[in-house]
Amino acid sequence: MAASQRFCPICGTQTDDAFCPTDKVATFTVTNPGGEPARFAAGDVVAGK
Ligand SMILES: [Zn+2]
Repeated sequence: MAASQRFCPICGTQTDDAFCPTDKVATFTVTNPGGEPARFAAGDVVAGK
């Protein structure tokens, strides 16, 4: 039901790939379908707000 929806922390693109095809960075998981912990990419832009 909840597919492994991920999004890119850089450009915000939603994908099911483990890496953003644009930025080549690890994507976040929005949901945790398999108990995989959400991981931060490089601690570059963590507090974007
Ligand atoms: Zn991106």
